[in-house]
Amino acid sequence: MIDKKNIYSLIIVGAGPAALTASIYASRYNINHLIIGEAIGGLAFEAHKICNFPTEFEIKGAELVSKIQKHVESLGNPIMIDKVVGINRENNQFKLTTQSNKELFAETILLALGTRYRQSNLPNEKEFIGKGLSYCVTCDAMFYKDKVVAVIGGSDNAQMASLHLSEIAKKVYQIYRKDKLQGETFLINQIKNNKKIEVIYNTEISEIEGNGKIESIKLNNPYKGKNKIDIDGLFIETGTVPQKVLIEELSLETNNAGYIKVEINQTTSQEGVWAAGDITNGSNNVHQIITACSEGAIAAEDISKFLQNKK
Ligand SMILES: Cc1cc2nc3c(=O)[nH]c(=O)nc-3n(C[C@H](O)[C@H](O)[C@H](O)COP(=O)(O)OP(=O)(O)OC[C@H]3O[C@@H](n4cnc5c(N)ncnc54)[C@H](O)[C@@H]3O)c2cc1C
Repeated sequence: MIDKKNIYSLIIVGAGPAALTASIYASRYNINHLIIGEAIGGLAFEAHKICNFPTEFEIKGAELVSKIQKHVESLGNPIMIDKVVGINRENNQFKLTTQSNKELFAETILLALGTRYRQSNLPNEKEFIGKGLSYCVTCDAMFYKDKVVAVIGGSDNAQMASLHLSEIAKKVYQIYRKDKLQGETFLINQIKNNKKIEVIYNTEISEIEGNGKIESIKLNNPYKGKNKIDIDGLFIETGTVPQKVLIEELSLETNNAGYIKVEINQTTSQEGVWAAGDITNGSNNVHQIITACSEGAIAAEDISKFLQNKK
């Protein structure tokens, strides 16, 4: 139930796997809480195919998220869709302000904000967003049936993007600045055995060209004698970076890359504030749904103890 007085024992900010799992656990601990997120499912929603979540041999991200959402809601916790734009401490409470001008109050906060896509800083990148340039293969792959596309990157996400695109496009170039792909061997082997995918190593894109939409990309290293490839679509898969604004407002300690520093029980440098999922330095090395869920569960358990001790 959404509390009419807007005062909660816990407000969970985010609605990805970490936040949704935290809500399930918070319900089990009978914590009066609100879960508020900009978009249900977060990055997990965008995963085309998930094959490493226990009990699910192969499932679309959107389907897995929908199952977790049903679980959350079945415990009597609706998810408020809104963006938190400000958090500050007032007396012994936190005051959260949302994009739709709501004011919400909580004794404790769990930040499960996830990450956002990293832009690759190509000179004219912004100009081509939505005109052949995309950061979301799951959202946009369908527009490239029998077309030629390129993927920038060499990590698991880039491999997954190329494999997904190879099911739709007629040709996929994967362009990577290093001499070897990184990440899961299983995915790398699939890339090597896929006849539609051609990996171009030791190369970066120097410029995107096109008139109103992408037509070609220039390479900083000639490939097969050419320094330009004609393409219809470009997918940037060069990783993600942590969300910043709320972390700075709460003056939370972060590591050099901007991820929130957490202890093993998910506490942060500020009393009353916990963090879970991709936003922390805990799951930072793995960046997976299972680790995000696990951090959400650990945080809820610790918050329960904290609230009990306050009574
Ligand atoms: C294409 C792709 C494929 C992937 N495939 C796999 C896979 O096969 N297996 C796997 O385990 N993992 C996979 N991942 C990684 C996985 O999606 C992430 O590790 C996981 O989603 C992290 O969960 P999270 O809850 O920490 O963050 P997220 O899922 O990113 O969720 C963050 C949440 O915070 C919300 N939010 C952010 N800022 C605010 C704000 N100010 N106010 C309110 N809400 C806010 C967002 O709307 C979102 O709901 C994949 C990722 C991508 C992009």
